[in-house]
Amino acid sequence: MNKSFPRRVGIPRAISYYNNYPFYLGFFNSLGIEVILSDKTTTKIINEGAKYVVSDTCLPIKVYVGHVVNLLDKGCECIFVPSIQSTGYKINNCSKIRGLPEIIRNVIDREFTMIEPTLDKTENIGLNDFCIETALAFGITNKKEIKKAVQKGFELYDNFFKMTQAGLPYHEALDNAVNGRYVNKTADIVKPLSVVIMGHGYNLFDERISLDIIKKLEKMDVKVYTSLNVSREDALNAIENLDEIQYWANELELTGTAAHFLNNRKVDGIIALSAFGCGPDSLMVDEIAYHCKEKNMPLIHLTIDEHTGEAGFITRLEAFVDMLMRKKRAMISKKSQAVVRTDEIITLKKEKMFTSAVK
Ligand code: SF4
Repeated sequence: MNKSFPRRVGIPRAISYYNNYPFYLGFFNSLGIEVILSDKTTTKIINEGAKYVVSDTCLPIKVYVGHVVNLLDKGCECIFVPSIQSTGYKINNCSKIRGLPEIIRNVIDREFTMIEPTLDKTENIGLNDFCIETALAFGITNKKEIKKAVQKGFELYDNFFKMTQAGLPYHEALDNAVNGRYVNKTADIVKPLSVVIMGHGYNLFDERISLDIIKKLEKMDVKVYTSLNVSREDALNAIENLDEIQYWANELELTGTAAHFLNNRKVDGIIALSAFGCGPDSLMVDEIAYHCKEKNMPLIHLTIDEHTGEAGFITRLEAFVDMLMRKKRAMISKKSQAVVRTDEIITLKKEKMFTSAVK
């Protein structure tokens, strides 16, 4: 490797990190490139990011900018900011994710190298091209070496994916995968209530952005499902069953996941968690809200921004969980009354039969 090329790269703990980090880590490490992660999201990181962009920018982008600043402050001079345009033919990301390198270049006026490969399946620029472009930025051109790095990336990613599908919590699966461990454990715990949260991984699994919604619900004795519990095929089928089409790159995570649980009725309610001012989310949540109304499935839409207060957030969650619990109790009591009535009718019939027999 040429000495003038960077030997370490910073990865902002935001946006594509949440779904792809095991792949990125395996890929870079296999090429001999050290990975530096930004710190976990804090209020300071959010406020820092918010300073650089116009106020109506969505929260995840403010957070992303904050993480880039965090890496620069740590002395990292080479940062990975991929431009993920589309993840399938005409399956697009929103304009902010597509233009992430442009946003960073225009708002952060500091000296650093940006590694900005493009993935655009609509234009036939697939993962292979994406990885070759990335490796080239580090002066690596050997195809065999790049292929091996892609395989290593997939090895970590596949383990992570299999563990989450088996029911392992997100952070546990991530920790195992990046440390080269595979834990074959299914954890299907039964709780009195269950919900599915439809939301982007970068909102849901960032404990600061989501105000740790998953743990809060678990403390309320609610079983939580997310997109990690739904296979790609099931999410696609669910969208088709609702007569909808996949347009957005995150459609499987949101519409597909909610639709899957709406169709199989395995949950008592749906929670939509989205960033204030997000265009794609408002369309997807509206679509699901329409079908929930038709199928009588309770839904709550929680929007978040940097000013969202924890107390109000908890109150809304508690009110929703209370409502689900009342609904469930009412349903159980209705069912048991129906059973009692059926028993009474059977007893009456038996009595009648007995009386006519002895007459
Ligand atoms: S999809 Fe929405 S929340 Fe995500 S980056 Fe785009 S506008 Fe922001």
